[in-house]
Parts: sequence; C-alpha cells; structure tokens
Amino acid sequence: MNTAPPYLMHLNDHPAPLMVRGAGSWLYDETGRAYLDFIQGWAVNALGHCPPEVVNALSAQAQQLLTPSPALRNQPREELARLLCEHTGLDKAYFCNSGAEANDCATKLARKWGRLHRDGAYEVITTLGGFHGRTLAMTAASGKPGWDAIAPPNLPGFVKVPFGDLAAMYDAIGERTCAVLLEPIQGEAGVIVPPRDYLREVRRLTRQHGVLLVLDEIQTGCGRTGSLLHSQLHGVLPDVVTLGKGLGGGVPIGAVLATEHAACFALGDHGGTFGGNPLACAAAVALLSTITQPGFFETVMARGELLAAGLRKLEADSGVIAELRGAGLLWGLKLKQPLARQVATHCFEAGLIINATRDDTLRLMPQLRVTESEIELVLKRLKEALSCAGLLARRGIAVRPARLH
Ligand SMILES: *Cc1c(COP(=O)(O)O)cnc(C)c1O
Repeated sequence: MNTAPPYLMHLNDHPAPLMVRGAGSWLYDETGRAYLDFIQGWAVNALGHCPPEVVNALSAQAQQLLTPSPALRNQPREELARLLCEHTGLDKAYFCNSGAEANDCATKLARKWGRLHRDGAYEVITTLGGFHGRTLAMTAASGKPGWDAIAPPNLPGFVKVPFGDLAAMYDAIGERTCAVLLEPIQGEAGVIVPPRDYLREVRRLTRQHGVLLVLDEIQTGCGRTGSLLHSQLHGVLPDVVTLGKGLGGGVPIGAVLATEHAACFALGDHGGTFGGNPLACAAAVALLSTITQPGFFETVMARGELLAAGLRKLEADSGVIAELRGAGLLWGLKLKQPLARQVATHCFEAGLIINATRDDTLRLMPQLRVTESEIELVLKRLKEALSCAGLLARRGIAVRPARLH
C-alpha cells in the first residue's frame, strides 16, 4: 500500500491515500474516507484539524499584512511574545519557523552565554535517545541511534548522557559545559518519562554549577501534558525553553523563550527572514488564547486520564503490551514484540492514525479537544489491532481490519 510519489525525495513511505481535508479529530482522503487522527501531524494540530479559532485568525491576518520584514514591528509578534512570557514566567522571546530552528538558536544562545559568562564554555549536554530536530547541528545534538553516521563529520560540542540518570548528569557537567539541553519527556524515543524528581534535580544541578537549563518542550509543551509547559507541572523554571509543533495550531512556527540573564544575543547575532511573521504569529496567538482559557487544561487532564485508564485496561486484557508511558494526551505503548509498525498499519487500514516511533513502540497524540467518544472509539480499534497483532505473532498471519466508516 506504500507509494513513492514522483518528484518527491523518498524520505518516507507514504500510504497511498491522498489527504484532502481535515476537521477536528478527523482527516479525510480524496475518496471521502474518514480517519480518526491520533497523531495530528505529530502533535502539530493541538486543536485538531482546521480549528475555527486558528482559521479565522489566519484569514483575518492574511487580509491585513503577511510579512512586513522581521526588522519592522508587527502587532501579532509583540502580542505573542507578551502572552508566552506572561504565561511561562520567562522574559524574552524569539520566533522562527520550526522546532529544529528553535533548538539551533537556543544552542547558539547557550554557547554565546558560555563565552560571556563561563570563560568560553561551549559544551552542551544532551541525552541518549533525545530528539531535537534534523538540521546539521540538531542531528549532532540528538541522541538517535545511527544519526551520527548519516552525514559526518558531525558538529562537535555535544556530550550525551543516559536520560533520567542524575549521577551521569552530575559527572558530565564540567568547566567546558555551558548548558544542559533535554526534553522533559522524550517524545520520539517512544514517550520516555524520567523518574519523578529528575527535572527538579537537573534544575538544582544546573543552578548549582552555574550552567543553563534549556528545555525542549516542542512536543511536551503547548498544553500537551495539561499545562502550557510540562516543566510547570514540576515547578521548574528553565533558563531557556523551545517551542514548536502545537504552537501554531497547524502552521509552522518555532519559539525560543529565555530569562533576561540568558537572553544574551546582541544586535545582529541571530535572525531569519520569516521569523515572527504576522501570519504565523496570529495563528499562535489564537492557539494560546484558546488553550489558556479557564478550565482548558483541566479538561486536557481529564481526557488524558480517560485515555490512560482505557490503555491500562488494554494492557491488562491484551497481554501484548509491555509498558505504558505518558502524561496528559501524550502516550506511548511498548509492545512485548516488535510489531508496532504492523499494528500502526493495521490501524491505518481500519481508519485510525497512530504511529510507531520504534519497532516495538506505538504513540498516541490526539488533539487537545478530543472527545470522550473519540477516545472510546480509539480504544476499541486499538484493542482489535492488538488482538490481530497477538494472532500475527503466534501464527504469522495478517487479519484484514474492518473500516471505521
Ligand atoms: C518535533 C521535535 C523537534 C523538531 O521540530 P521540527 O519542527 O520538526 O524541526 C525538536 N524537538 C522535539 C522534542 C520534537 O518533538
């Protein structure tokens, strides 16, 4: 069922259906088939496909002003910076177009900060299995197995430690260290949740050693785990935070937020043609205004609990799940056998979109306004797919799924 479209570099195996329309939790292909989308463009559509708030903000802004130039003031950029700083406790914002760009910028900022405040320290400690994007620098910063062999030589200056291991972090911080860069929960690695006190302890260590804590909240932020930033749930204020994915409610935007002290760029140190353009910023303002309304995060938490309870039941009943990991509306299911890709394909054919981050790990990231009945439907489909996976494993046969619609 996979196809390689002509004229496109072959970097993904695309399933054949051509997607033409989306609304809330549902995606439709050109034949009108509906897919219940529990990936949402990799946690990009925080409010689902084509949310009216974001669509209206985009169309209003598109008729006013698209791009004046990053060197001129525009209202949505200033409004977005104010909202983000007020809701996070950080002081300064910079906008770019993607998560990887935001992490690139944060790393550059940390190195400059090390030059100014830590005697030229430039090393950034990152974590094994971590994912920070695919630019040349972030390929080196990420700890994805095999990535160091794609296009060497790799950018030096990144030191990797096991995720969740405080002792290793303690040992790694030295006089060349300017910052620690990590995800509060490793997303692409398969939703790896560290020990409960890890984030707070890393904050304590970095403060004690006088190095910056940079949190990549590109996947965990923007309400995904029931708070604007996941670190807020731990009472941790980092020096620098990067955002992307859900921030634009479906349109490309990345952000770097920093404390006054960490925001050490001088005139001309950094920038980008499209960064902070009013169109993307207007979408992000609409997204933030929606998710910061009273009660919004409580509902995310409640829906997350409902999903988690269903997944726990599935774990107990199915016998094929080894581990359940996650928070809020970000969940990973580790299977006992490496059948995640088969299960994801089975689900897709049955009209449910989930993804396999590893051969043995499935991930679910529904939109934040997912309904209770959509969660019930997903659990039902997943149960069927997992029982097929059990059969597949035992007998080596594939069972064709029934479609949702
Ligand atoms: C997706 C992701 C990135 C990269 O974002 P892009 O917009 O794809 O460049 C970086 N860090 C984390 C944690 C992510 O999930």
